[in-house]
Amino acid sequence: MKIMSINTGSSSLKFSLFNMDDESVIASGLFERIGMENSNTIIKFNGMKLEEKIPMKDHADAVNVLLDKLINLKIVNNLNEIDGIGHRVVHGKDKYNKSVIITDEVIKDLDEFKAFAPLHNGPNIVGIKAFKEILPNTLMVGVFDTAFHQTMEKEAYLYPVPLSWYRDYGVRKYGFHGTSHRYINETLSNMLNRNDLKIISCHLGSGGSICAIDSGKSIDTSMGFTPLTGIMMGTRSGDVDPSIIPYIMEKEGKNAEEVIDDLNKKSGLLGMSEESNDMRDVISAMNSGNENARLAFLKYCRTVTNYIAQYYVLLGGADAIVFTAGLGENSAPTRMKICENLSSLGVKLDLEKNKVMGETAKISAKGSKIDVYVIPTNEELMIARDVKKAIESGI
Ligand code: ADP
Repeated sequence: MKIMSINTGSSSLKFSLFNMDDESVIASGLFERIGMENSNTIIKFNGMKLEEKIPMKDHADAVNVLLDKLINLKIVNNLNEIDGIGHRVVHGKDKYNKSVIITDEVIKDLDEFKAFAPLHNGPNIVGIKAFKEILPNTLMVGVFDTAFHQTMEKEAYLYPVPLSWYRDYGVRKYGFHGTSHRYINETLSNMLNRNDLKIISCHLGSGGSICAIDSGKSIDTSMGFTPLTGIMMGTRSGDVDPSIIPYIMEKEGKNAEEVIDDLNKKSGLLGMSEESNDMRDVISAMNSGNENARLAFLKYCRTVTNYIAQYYVLLGGADAIVFTAGLGENSAPTRMKICENLSSLGVKLDLEKNKVMGETAKISAKGSKIDVYVIPTNEELMIARDVKKAIESGI
């Protein structure tokens, strides 16, 4: 069974084609700068990486180029070999608590939810429509970033604001990165052959969120109404006092949207270090004595620590803390500092094992009260698994 996972951004399209018999990747790639000058395609397959500049004026063009490439490179002999396509969709609001087969009604809903994730749902729909037009008979499944968190109780997802904001306008915590947190839960539960684990899943990438998982269910998560809140991130501030917004509007003559843009794109590691949004650069600047970089590193670790501690209490203890995504999988110094901050909970790292990069490993020391793991996330595979399930049993 061959299944393709698709992730469309405003000017990009990522794909992975899986052989679901053994979950191996047949081919993967990134199409970028769609609708701009110098659009570029990168396709990896058979151990090769092929890069070619091909004009793509919109996503429909990109889908056509992708499907042509799959045939021309003999990745598939004909397009009917693709049994199903899974689309990452950022926002499913509170209507979608699991992956669904994409019908016209689903597309209509996503259009309606656009106001909740304008940067993401818009491009996601464009991608879905482009594929539907070219492959009208192929099964398509929508996999929502928000769905996993639909198990949160009201006490977790409501904000302490006028209740009418929730009733009338849908103001609540939705949470994101759900596909990644679900993958972490599934992987660790399979590894340990248990389905009752209390897991604190730390997705630390350029965006980041922490999730408290109890027996496979998301109990709480750090991102909220939008992905801006929670822990400090590469360029996002995470939690800040909203009164800062009108204050900076006045000081810098900006409107609310511009200040929110600063909180999304000019804050976090980048804003505090004044160096980079990439933790590698921040750590190397810190090691050369840059004080702002040191503060950015410490603040990052502190915000992650705070959420882990909060969720440890909420869960009534934890079987495992899991680090995942670019930074979580690769940055030993960040993991070390966060775990050092957690020493009063009895967390102890094995510093040798903590050197691991991008591989599954238990990195806690013998005698640590909570086991600590690195598990590389795989949202693409999770999406493909959902499509496979839909094909085999209907969702
Ligand atoms: P996203 O998918 O959200 O764009 P990723 O999960 O790929 O992000 O994570 C990218 C981030 O991971 C980079 O911005 C960088 O900060 C961080 N990262 C990757 N490798 C390392 C490393 N070796 N050390 C520290 N940070 C790293």
